[in-house]
Amino acid sequence: MLNATKDPEKEKQHMAAVKAWQTIRIKRIEKIKSENESIDDYNFSRDLRSVAYGEYKINPPLIKPSKLTYVEKGGVGKELSDGWALNYAVGCTHACRFCYVDSIHKRYDAKRIGRGVNRSWGDYFYTPNNIDYAIEKTNWSKWSGIEVMISSMHDPYLPQLYNTTRKIITKALENGVKLCVQTRSPLVKRDFDIYEKYKDQVRIQVSVATMNNELARFIEPRVSPPEERINIIRNAKSRGLKAGIIIAPVMPPIKIRSDVKQDMEEIIRAISDIKPDFIYGETIHARGSNIKEIESLLGEQLYLNGFDRPVEQHFYSLLKKYGLNGIWWREHKYN
Ligand code: SF4
Repeated sequence: MLNATKDPEKEKQHMAAVKAWQTIRIKRIEKIKSENESIDDYNFSRDLRSVAYGEYKINPPLIKPSKLTYVEKGGVGKELSDGWALNYAVGCTHACRFCYVDSIHKRYDAKRIGRGVNRSWGDYFYTPNNIDYAIEKTNWSKWSGIEVMISSMHDPYLPQLYNTTRKIITKALENGVKLCVQTRSPLVKRDFDIYEKYKDQVRIQVSVATMNNELARFIEPRVSPPEERINIIRNAKSRGLKAGIIIAPVMPPIKIRSDVKQDMEEIIRAISDIKPDFIYGETIHARGSNIKEIESLLGEQLYLNGFDRPVEQHFYSLLKKYGLNGIWWREHKYN
């Protein structure tokens, strides 16, 4: 079992951060009440009927620089594109409770999109009302031979986006654009017919954080179960497509899944016969208020101090054991 250390200084900082987060929440609730709105609209519910939908205008070109992959421009340099991304929704109804995207929308998009982005993550979803125009106005061939991630701010295979995504990938691929398709949704399999025609331009990346269904349901409340996601990779590989897995975000020991090592071994064992082309891994990272939200929902503290390094070591020893290769995206180099 992997245990992170309980550093008293870090714990003090953590408690101060929890207090600050609680104060922000209280202020937010007071503001909502003062505007005569129901607080229920701002609390997350697993039920998809709680999602508020809206529209916005998107500016072409659809392909934009991505900080997630663009080291030259101060990004974190994950190996998921050549520094470009395709995003065409605000919000993601998968509602992963660790997702960092919500804090970006709340900080930058309230004015542009509307106050709906103040709702709970997963419960607001805006799509462009001019997507056909933006597809037409994008000079796709400008990115010929360049890998673009689809998507970094939402899942491209949410049911509400499926038709748009099919149009976008068709345009991109026929113009020579390379795609790194990042998804948690089995709907991607419906587009394998297109991807098969452009095998050299495409890779499919699927994220799995845990094999523990109870934990998965908690942190990724509207995403299909882990086995189903591993089947996406199996299916893609059996059709000759390049496919990979991102084992993330790995959570520290918590009551419903205390043994991190065993959990990670279950994931790697499950993919060992598939032999994915790319394997990445990372622990959960504190972004915005994600850790505080998970802690508040779990009713227990997440101990992240000193957690990343031993998990990285375990990741590499498991890859060796099962004859696989992969890359760990470190957090501890920043600690
Ligand atoms: S699928 Fe990705 S973008 Fe959507 S909520 Fe989960 S982590 Fe965030």
